[in-house]
Amino acid sequence: MSNTLVSTRDVDSHEVGYTEALLGGLAPDGGLYVPSNLTGFSRDGLRVLMANNYPELAAHIKSTFTQSPLGVFIFGVVALGAFGKDNYPDSVDGNVVPIRQISEEVYVQNLSLGPTAAFKDMALQPVAREMDKALEQSGGVLRILGATSGDTGSAAEAAFKGRENIRMFMLSPLVGMTVFQRAQMAELSGGNIVNISVEGNFDDCQDIVKAVNSDPEFADLGAVNSINWGRIASQIPYYFSGYGQIPEAYAGREVDFAVPSGNFGNALSGYYARRMGLPIGNIVIATNENSVLHQLVQTGLYRKSPAQITSSPSMDISKASNFERLAFDIFSQDPEKLQAYMKAFETNGEVSFDDFGAANTILLEMGFRSVSSTHQNRLKTIQSVYSRTGSVIDPHTADGVRAGEGLKRAGIPIICLETALPVKFEPTIREALDFTPERPVRFRGIEDKMTGGEFIVVKPDVAVIKGIIRAHS
Ligand SMILES: *Cc1c(COP(=O)(O)O)cnc(C)c1O
Repeated sequence: MSNTLVSTRDVDSHEVGYTEALLGGLAPDGGLYVPSNLTGFSRDGLRVLMANNYPELAAHIKSTFTQSPLGVFIFGVVALGAFGKDNYPDSVDGNVVPIRQISEEVYVQNLSLGPTAAFKDMALQPVAREMDKALEQSGGVLRILGATSGDTGSAAEAAFKGRENIRMFMLSPLVGMTVFQRAQMAELSGGNIVNISVEGNFDDCQDIVKAVNSDPEFADLGAVNSINWGRIASQIPYYFSGYGQIPEAYAGREVDFAVPSGNFGNALSGYYARRMGLPIGNIVIATNENSVLHQLVQTGLYRKSPAQITSSPSMDISKASNFERLAFDIFSQDPEKLQAYMKAFETNGEVSFDDFGAANTILLEMGFRSVSSTHQNRLKTIQSVYSRTGSVIDPHTADGVRAGEGLKRAGIPIICLETALPVKFEPTIREALDFTPERPVRFRGIEDKMTGGEFIVVKPDVAVIKGIIRAHS
């Protein structure tokens, strides 16, 4: 059947629709939802698609993920709200994801013009609206518990703020986030948004989410981290739009993409775009010092390692949760094999492709490439892009640009994804350039509005947090 989703670990291949996957988050068997097949676009189909503005293009691509005519209609309404002028005041002619050239055949695609200045808005804005509409129809209220080390928190809260059918509980570490990130969340606190500041680190927050989720009383909690299929699906359209903005001379030819990567959600969406017929050549994975994905691409060894805090913090991961979806394809969509592979990873903290009958070079053969960057690389790239073009890029984007320019192939354009605006990471920009980047008007002075009362501060205690969720339900 088409337009349905299956779980990567489900040997019985139960199929669910888009809405069920959206509201469910993780599949009941612990696997991730993946499309049972994908709609392919022909060359002519692509040309028609790319003549649309972004909301139309996004709605069109999303509508290939549902069978319901109502679903198709809703995707249209959602895209207009999510990508309108209110949310994207700096967009030009409906283009919310513009590309700009920074050197010969090298482009940067800005995905960060949304309400919280991070690419996570691209997915969370539509996902929040879709969830709200689905709940409106079914008459339920969904409680969402999340953990953030920075960008996810504000992007999720901005998207869900004021949505009557949803209560959002967001855990964040008391230390480690930038003042700007805390201020963004503080501004959104109240009403259906409950900010909980945990006296601990991000891992403590994630452990609490896991512990609460495993309690049957909280079995119905929703999730909006990037394991949610709705987020992956919502990131596919901008690859099409970026490709469509490359000069006409390259029409129909291969274009490479470089993707600042953490949990592998963004790059995976590019991989699905390619499977849908978009002529993407290489997908270059850019990592920071947390080089789990770099090692995986180069050696076939997937090894968990403790996350260290870096100056591109939204890519600080110990494992890449979405990689399971790609592994499912690598193992010929065989859930039994995938289960065994993931179990080996979870038990031993590492696993190799060749232990399960795939080549250790498989990711390279599939057109993935990778580069890992350090703090010094990041500073140099920010300096170099600024001196060449006068534009200031954020530290995550810098990792992407360094990887993209480093692996640029002759005659093939490459698009480096810009995943955040520099305003969010001012200290690193000052270190690189000796000045503070100009802030978009809507972010000026937001730190000064904080009173401190916007966060409920708690010890990392599961029972206390369950109590807070109950009290606000
Ligand atoms: C979340 C995030 C990333 C990493 O994206 P993944 O989908 O987790 O790979 C990169 N850059 C920024 C700014 C982010 O917020």
